[in-house]
Amino acid sequence: MSDISHLVTALKAAVPEAQILTDRETLQASSHDTWPLSTKLRRLGCHDYQADVVVKVTDEQQIQQVLALATAYDTPVTPRALASSVTGQPLPTRGGIVLDLTGMTHHRDINTTNLTVEVSAGYNGGQLEDELQQMGWTLGHSPQSLYQSSVGGWLSTLATGQFSSYYGGIEDLITAYTVILATGEKIRLKASPRAAMGPDLRQLFIGAEGTLGIVTSVQLKMFPLPQTRLFDSLELPSVEAGLTIMREQAMAGLRPFLLRLYDTNEARHAMQNPQQDKPVMFLGTQGVEAVARAEMDAFMAIVHRHGGQSIGSEGVLKWMDRRFDFSTVENLLDSTGGFAETIEIAHTWDGIASLYHDLNKMLTPLAGEVLSHFSHVYPQGTSMYMILLGREETDAAAVEKLRTIWRETMRVCLEHNAELSHHHGGGLVRSPYARESLGSAHLLLRRLKQALDPNGVLNPGKLGL
Ligand SMILES: Cc1cc2nc3c(=O)[nH]c(=O)nc-3n(C[C@H](O)[C@H](O)[C@H](O)COP(=O)(O)OP(=O)(O)OC[C@H]3O[C@@H](n4cnc5c(N)ncnc54)[C@H](O)[C@@H]3O)c2cc1C
Repeated sequence: MSDISHLVTALKAAVPEAQILTDRETLQASSHDTWPLSTKLRRLGCHDYQADVVVKVTDEQQIQQVLALATAYDTPVTPRALASSVTGQPLPTRGGIVLDLTGMTHHRDINTTNLTVEVSAGYNGGQLEDELQQMGWTLGHSPQSLYQSSVGGWLSTLATGQFSSYYGGIEDLITAYTVILATGEKIRLKASPRAAMGPDLRQLFIGAEGTLGIVTSVQLKMFPLPQTRLFDSLELPSVEAGLTIMREQAMAGLRPFLLRLYDTNEARHAMQNPQQDKPVMFLGTQGVEAVARAEMDAFMAIVHRHGGQSIGSEGVLKWMDRRFDFSTVENLLDSTGGFAETIEIAHTWDGIASLYHDLNKMLTPLAGEVLSHFSHVYPQGTSMYMILLGREETDAAAVEKLRTIWRETMRVCLEHNAELSHHHGGGLVRSPYARESLGSAHLLLRRLKQALDPNGVLNPGKLGL
């Protein structure tokens, strides 16, 4: 019997047999997430990162048993939830066990006094948001993948949502969680409502991409649904004017819940108007009506100072209705030779405009369409999100084009000293750049890895580990 057969036999003694999968279809599927390059490779019949066995766990004890066996058999374990990663994060680079966490959904505990909700890590984010909204609450976290991602996935990828300028990223929204280390030890991390005992250890696993432990349960903040929401779409003379408006409103302490600046190329798509010939900004304010109104007025004063004007709320309201739609990218990827990619980065205010221009100059000859928007705003800078759409003769050529696009984009970002990812994380595609991007802090990550996962069992090949 091979080592894997021995392992599978041992797993069957620890976890109900029906939860242990070794069929061809499941193993091939484990080689893919929602990363566009991976989607193209699937079309080509390339399943390079297959698990040897997929184990669907439903409770913490099963996770502990699987980890103990993985250590005993010196086999990697790659956690996988809803696989909406667009960077190859849950792909098992060295085979072994894929730990399927989608069955970790049994627990939900709402505390309307402390304004928190705790759920098992595999809970579907959109389902949770819908359940809360029916009771008058919201998570405030609304990624485009809301209905295809899990709460444990959000934590593990340092996710952020479309309303982050108001509510913050997932790192601002988590109050507590439970994690199981590769050694099987169970750890609870919490700060309710804040804690100053030692370093903020809660941050350790946030964005760790399953390389340091398995998250089993997450407690999140929840907020009352806003009383009023106001919307407007604005037309602007230039991207630079839009960036200045974003910076000035942040300086002024305004907190619109929705703020998205589209360059002219993407404004055509955002407005669903091929004639759109100027950048567009989507704006939303919320709160008690007097505050939402005052913020809207204060924001518009800044817009007018920089040559912008309202073009009515229809564009932004239509976008609100289709904001989870990813079909342009999906359809292109699903066609022969079609390619599409989304790359998000971040930079400070003093560098973002020149980075935008340099990336556009470099990418325009590579892709049929280069669309850019800026949608997460901080007093110190902003994110930039590029959507690249194009077509080659064959899927193989499309794969090569995607590889070139990534390599060149990362190169330009490093030259500009920009952040290589704003929210999609490292995964397989950015792992080669993790050391350079983290700089001296990568040593800390390596030491943490040694301390928490001494046998290197968890999700090898990610974050430059
Ligand atoms: C259409 C679309 C839109 C998107 N929009 C956004 C967006 O607006 N904002 C955003 O931030 N992201 C976005 N993403 C990316 C993706 O949805 C997020 O990264 C999401 O957080 C991943 O959750 P998941 O449950 O699918 O995790 P998976 O993809 O299954 O896993 C992601 C990583 O987390 C690890 N992991 C998952 N669960 C656990 C756990 N319980 N314990 C330990 N490790 C774990 C995995 O090992 C892997 O490394 C988008 C993706 C798509 C396809």
